[in-house]
Amino acid sequence: MYAWVDLTCWLWGAFMIVYGICLSAGESDIFGFDEVAFWICAGAGFFLFYPVILEFILWLSSQFFTPSPPSLNFSNLVPIAYHPSYNITAGGIEKMHPFDSRKYGKVFHVLKERGIIKENYLIPVKCPRSILRAVHPFSYLLMLCYSLSITTKVEVPVCFLPEPILRFRVLNPMLYGTYGSLLAGCAAIEKGYAINLSGGYHHCSSRSGGGFCIYADITILIYWMRYWYPDKVHRVMIVDLDAHQGNGHERDFIDDEETFIIDFFNPNIYPGDHYARKAIKFAEHITESDGDESYCSKLENAMTNCIESFKPSFIVYNAGTDCMEGDPLGRLQITPQGIIQRDEIVFKHALKNKVPVVMLLSGGYQQVNAPVIADSISNLFSKFNL
Ligand SMILES: [Zn+2]
Repeated sequence: MYAWVDLTCWLWGAFMIVYGICLSAGESDIFGFDEVAFWICAGAGFFLFYPVILEFILWLSSQFFTPSPPSLNFSNLVPIAYHPSYNITAGGIEKMHPFDSRKYGKVFHVLKERGIIKENYLIPVKCPRSILRAVHPFSYLLMLCYSLSITTKVEVPVCFLPEPILRFRVLNPMLYGTYGSLLAGCAAIEKGYAINLSGGYHHCSSRSGGGFCIYADITILIYWMRYWYPDKVHRVMIVDLDAHQGNGHERDFIDDEETFIIDFFNPNIYPGDHYARKAIKFAEHITESDGDESYCSKLENAMTNCIESFKPSFIVYNAGTDCMEGDPLGRLQITPQGIIQRDEIVFKHALKNKVPVVMLLSGGYQQVNAPVIADSISNLFSKFNL
């Protein structure tokens, strides 16, 4: 609904500018202005200010509604969240970014072919404003109404595209992904584990996005899990194994003693956020010299020691696969077999200690990532009899 109102307003602004341009200059004047200048200025002003009004109405209306956890019978569902809208397409523009933005659908279809997913999986909706506003302030959500601001977060030159197109093609897929993380969180409380085939936007904090991350789904997930299940979710461990430092959630939980962050990352690549690193309770710098054996051995030690000392009641596993060999952005050397072993280690420790775990796919920029992720999830289901 919002996206369509947005599109209508945008078209109205565009119409005013085009109408102004089509007029012959100096033919008449309105309120003392040249008519051409009047319509162009009115259109430009409308472009700037209609989002403020729309966002304010949405923000105000969401104040009167406190969201409840999804009323689903999770015991009858395979705890894997997926929606076709996860896949980001924009008439080929998405190919300018190294991110394989359609990997979600590829993983889903392989899992379906293998019979792991049937018809009974988690289907998210678009994350409502009432959920977002708990974490993202009005000013941040307002900035997402402007193409230029979205460009700085997705790091693709899309500022020339009308904002409604970006809303349909970029923001909405991430809104589905964000709610998918939340749905998976609720399922994990019931089943002990869950996987969202999207999410893990770990460069986005409540006040700032970046690195193709627009909504802080990890912070949102933890906030609502603690709110909805105060008796079950209190001490939260984030295990971030994406090749990049998870500076978004780190900034959000920098002063939170009830959140323990383990981050294995390549310190020589984006984002190099030294302030956010203060939030990491267990940091491991991974470089090209780390092979599968060294990587998995470090992870095994980290999981054993940190779970024993921190005693988490909930684990968010950010399972980015851009640490796989050949990834031009992650620049690490973990093999597909190492990825499978890595996921197995995290699940083994969570299940053994009976701590609900939510796995989010996060980064992973190569075309070969989807089959490896599907193989790894298949391995988890067979290995642990899920
Ligand atoms: Zn990454």
